[in-house]
Amino acid sequence: MNRGSRKINRIGVLTSGGDSPGMNAAIRAVVRTGIFHDLEVYGIMRGYQGLIEDDIQKMESRSVANIIQRGGTILKTARCKEFYDYEGRKKGYDNLKKRGIDGLVIIGGDGSFRGAVEFSKEFDIPCIGIAGTIDKDILGTDFTIGFDTAVNTAVEAIDKVRDTMDAHDRIFIIEVMGRDAGYIALHSGIATGAENILIPERKTDMDDIVKSLLEKERRKKLVNLIVVAEGDDFGGAEEVHKILKEKLPMAEIRVCILGHIQRGGAPSCIDRLIASRMGYHAVECLLEGRHNVFVGIQNNRMHYIPLENAVKSKGKISEEWLKIVKILAS
Ligand code: ADP
Repeated sequence: MNRGSRKINRIGVLTSGGDSPGMNAAIRAVVRTGIFHDLEVYGIMRGYQGLIEDDIQKMESRSVANIIQRGGTILKTARCKEFYDYEGRKKGYDNLKKRGIDGLVIIGGDGSFRGAVEFSKEFDIPCIGIAGTIDKDILGTDFTIGFDTAVNTAVEAIDKVRDTMDAHDRIFIIEVMGRDAGYIALHSGIATGAENILIPERKTDMDDIVKSLLEKERRKKLVNLIVVAEGDDFGGAEEVHKILKEKLPMAEIRVCILGHIQRGGAPSCIDRLIASRMGYHAVECLLEGRHNVFVGIQNNRMHYIPLENAVKSKGKISEEWLKIVKILAS
């Protein structure tokens, strides 16, 4: 972590990569904390793309009125190929210099943080990250903005599917988001009483699942809920369905893929709170000269983790949680 001593007068804020509910609350917190400290705050549209294209506008306190409860991001987000190259990043830097912007807040996932690391290595612009991703897969923080909302959306949807599943005595395979991380599947699966939860962090023994389904059938427990992360080792719900259908040709099995509804909607109270806290602390970091870190929360306290350490937290699933799934699903 660097600690610079220069004075910050103008800051920019952008949202980048995958969107997540609560990003607006974080933008609001950055803008209003900046204005509180007499900074000029600039909103950069469409992440690094807008930085390169000079799509940048001055924000006032009113610019962020009435957005704390809205999903998505008013600054829009994008994936930007040009930013992977030095020439693209140089264009972005020139646009910041032209406007006298001397600090940047990046709200996004680990990819966006990697971009910020490259940028801050080459150019003299302090960057502060705020972890916004529904996957909660960034090491060093107990929370990422959007995870709580996404999980609650998944739980609400799974509860609804369970009603029809129960009425028809069916096996349902529900796919939730999580290409590299199983947190949404694990949390929503436990909260909805899933019999099996398939996640990328763990190898699934399909024979074991078939054995338990047959055993449950013998006990006349015909309703079975299987929650699958999209990145599980079989490749999602459709693939799991194919395998189960081969092994249990007589079973009534349905698939439901929840998809993008998990990204949208009004952020939960928790997401609004952590976004507000992280946004506030990101600006404080810039003012204190704490540079090139992202703002995380551990045990309810703010932590500042070097951006270059922001790696995806693979394989950190608690064994105890997996044991709980097994015991409670009997
Ligand atoms: P997320 O932030 O949600 O993980 P991505 O991985 O798509 O999303 O990253 C968002 C953007 O960050 C990319 O489109 C790119 O512009 C920038 N970025 C990601 N990795 C790098 C990198 N190694 N170098 C430069 N820019 C990067």
